[in-house]
Amino acid sequence: MRRLRCLLWLSIGAKGVVWAAVYADATPPAPLAALGLMLSGAQTLLEFAAVFWRLYPRERSERGLTAARPAYLAVRLRPVGDALAPLVAVGLAGLTAHYTLSGASRDWGSAGMLGASAMGLTALLLGLTLTRRAAPLPVRAVSVAPSLLAEAQRLGDELGVPVRELLILDGTRTRTANAYALSGGRIALTDALLAALTEPELHAVLAHEVAHLAQRRRLVRLWAGLTLAGVALTLAGAPLWERLPRWGLLGLLVALALGMLAPMLWLRRRHEQEADAFAVSQYGAEPLIRALHKLAALQPRDAQRASDALHPSLHERLQRLQRFQPRLPA
Ligand SMILES: [Zn+2]
Repeated sequence: MRRLRCLLWLSIGAKGVVWAAVYADATPPAPLAALGLMLSGAQTLLEFAAVFWRLYPRERSERGLTAARPAYLAVRLRPVGDALAPLVAVGLAGLTAHYTLSGASRDWGSAGMLGASAMGLTALLLGLTLTRRAAPLPVRAVSVAPSLLAEAQRLGDELGVPVRELLILDGTRTRTANAYALSGGRIALTDALLAALTEPELHAVLAHEVAHLAQRRRLVRLWAGLTLAGVALTLAGAPLWERLPRWGLLGLLVALALGMLAPMLWLRRRHEQEADAFAVSQYGAEPLIRALHKLAALQPRDAQRASDALHPSLHERLQRLQRFQPRLPA
């Protein structure tokens, strides 16, 4: 999986370099560049669909998956889509800004304005998907024990965020034991997680996810603020845009994109630590530590390495948790 992640960034990076060269050299009309950007995104998805298509039989026999190939592909391609969406959103926003501010859209009359609004709207919609989260696996038609929902709601009250629903996802067929904070005050647990953990361990995992629900509002506010700042900066710098050489313009776009993505990434990493700390504040560190050990045994991966850009490695997470003293009996 780690090699695949490198491959993903290599694929995205290579396409980025090619597009930057094409854009700086020939400056195709912005709507055409936008179309190219979206096609590149689609191409990356197709490349990985092909990779996972080939990997499916191996994973099926090695990990005992019972999911059919389409369900497996849907689960595997989701993180690829998640990685692509912010890049395409920021790229489209940059192209829209360039198109309208450089006056190129006016040259095409109403078609130009239409193109610019379509590009802007697509960027906005893609940006919105970053703040919403749908269930990553099929939802199972079973409900959880009322006591579990009641506990989640109590945790929500503690943080001032409503918990409306606990969903059970089908994780058995893809061997996924995980929990997710979804949009709309929903928390999802896979059936495999539910089966593996004891009640105190489940509560600790729930507390971590309830904290994520509360943090989502802060993330949405930050994203809105960054978008506004980006638009304001672009408008204020408009006179500069036309005088910059093409490479300078590209550099500015990249800086803008990084300036918007880096604070989001930083805040989300911090949120992971805060969510663990909230779980500890509720139940002490032990249940969460036990839960993490169990989950690590279910889904073997390198304990020293982070699984993605957001979550710290298991080793780092356990070390931080072990700093908390065991709770004294009341
Ligand atoms: Zn988390």
